Amino acid sequence: MHEFLIAARLRDGAPVYVTPGACSRCGADRGIDGARAACCAPGESTRGHNRVRDELLALASLSDGAARSEAPGLIEAAPLLRPADVLTTAAFGRLTALDVGIVAPHAAGAGEDAAAAYVVSKVGKYAPHLPALAADGIAYRPLVWTTWGRPREDASAAVASMAAAAGRRLGAPSHALAARARTAIGAAIWRRAARMVGACGPRLARGDVGALLPGAGAAGAGGKALAGALAGVAGEADAVAGPVGTGGPAGPAGQVGAAFLGVGAAAGVAELAAAFESIAGAVGPGGAGAPGPGDAGGAAAEAAGAAGCSAAAGAAGEPAGGGARGPAWFAGLRLARGRGPPA
Ligand SMILES: [Zn+2]
Repeated sequence: MHEFLIAARLRDGAPVYVTPGACSRCGADRGIDGARAACCAPGESTRGHNRVRDELLALASLSDGAARSEAPGLIEAAPLLRPADVLTTAAFGRLTALDVGIVAPHAAGAGEDAAAAYVVSKVGKYAPHLPALAADGIAYRPLVWTTWGRPREDASAAVASMAAAAGRRLGAPSHALAARARTAIGAAIWRRAARMVGACGPRLARGDVGALLPGAGAAGAGGKALAGALAGVAGEADAVAGPVGTGGPAGPAGQVGAAFLGVGAAAGVAELAAAFESIAGAVGPGGAGAPGPGDAGGAAAEAAGAAGCSAAAGAAGEPAGGGARGPAWFAGLRLARGRGPPA
């Protein structure tokens, strides 16, 4: 739930920290909006990247039983390089090393289109080895998303193509598979951002939370909806005990450690979910507990740049009930979500 709240606030451009201060990881001023954290927290950054990789591998595996991740030794001359987060024929017909990247659009040197710049940088890194890969019948393709979930077109194309291949293999609707995959990837990317915020964050007295709640109202209509929901639960936050925030131990008595706005409110989850829905346009299939914005994009930080993204396609998804879908379809979705075979 904590991650969901942080993701909702990041998406809206609302403050995520109660007060400005030094990043608990690198010591730099981290501000209050979480943007700085998106360029820090290497551990959570990598873990989030790996969750995206795992979603792609699951999708690839639906049509390519030989798909694998992090294949070592692809480049004989540089055995330590691993250009393939996923090595599969599922995406582009030929064996392709899919290299997953997630880049912050506001990072230094990111340029007008951070995702495009990152593709160029990745291709440049592997350029000396691409002929050797090609000689082995392996193409190289970076798949890049921004921190706020916007895919570069190669990433969109790979997901759509793998979903189509899986659809043909399973006799399932490929658009549904693609939508589910985009939602799963979007959730992984937003979870990554939220956890990076957590990793860089402070631990403050819970009393500060209420004092800063009006900040949510400064972020436009969506922020006001969320701020309203938060105001509704703020009074209940006092009743909530236990550690929150980065997951560390609770502070001394009276110092619950609610360093993040909106955290610590066990009640009011439904209101917050509704507020998030009003901002994101949809809530993912995981329900209120999971951020499922798909690749709908839209964080304020990205709005300043290339805000375009594939509408709310990722968030549309399929109804949880699934209607008249067959067992194979559900099995495919469960596999695509990394949840193993149906119970
Ligand atoms: Zn930092």
